[in-house]
Amino acid sequence: MDPVNRKIRLATVWLGGCSGCHMSFLDMDERLLELAQRVELLASPFTDYKDFPEVDITLVEGAVANEEHLEQIRLIRRRTRILVAFGDCAVTGNVTALRNVFPVEEVLARAFQETATPVVGVPRGNPAVPRLLERARPIHEVVQVDYFLQGCPPSGPEIYEFLMALIEGRQPEIARKKFG
Ligand code: SF4
Repeated sequence: MDPVNRKIRLATVWLGGCSGCHMSFLDMDERLLELAQRVELLASPFTDYKDFPEVDITLVEGAVANEEHLEQIRLIRRRTRILVAFGDCAVTGNVTALRNVFPVEEVLARAFQETATPVVGVPRGNPAVPRLLERARPIHEVVQVDYFLQGCPPSGPEIYEFLMALIEGRQPEIARKKFG
C-alpha cells in the first residue's frame, strides 16, 4: 500500500452499533501483534483521542443514528483515504435500523419512560444527548463508502484478512466495493 513502508494509519469508529464489531476486532487474538507491526492505530474506542486525525483506513461500526453521528461521519470521510462500512449495521442499518418502523417520539417514549427505571423523562433539548434522526441510516446513504465488510459481526480472521489485503495492496476478496 505504501512504497516507503511507513505504517498504515488506521482508525476505528463506533457509531450506532452494539460494539460487537469492535469486540470481534479483538478476536484477532495474536494476529493483533502482527497487525501492530504494520499499522499505527491513531483513533479508536480503544484509545484516547480528541480530534479525528488524517488516516489511510477507517473501519466504521454502526449506523448513522443521530445528529452527532452525522457530523462525525462527514468529518471522518474528509480525513480518511479508505472508508470501510464495518459490519452489517454500517452496511445496511441492521439492528440499529429496527426502530425505523416507529416514529422517533414513540421510540424515545419507549426507551425513557415506558421501560425506564427510574423514569427520568425524554431528554429533549439536552445538549449532552444528540437528537435521533428520523431513520437510522447505513453509512453509504450519507457519505461515499469504499468497502463493505459484512457480518454481524465480521469474524476476527475475516477482519485480519481484509486489513492485510489492503495493507499489502491486494484486492480484499472478503469485502465488496459496492453495496447490493
Ligand atoms: Fe453489533 Fe452486529 Fe451491528 Fe456489529 S453488525 S454493531 S455486532 S449488531
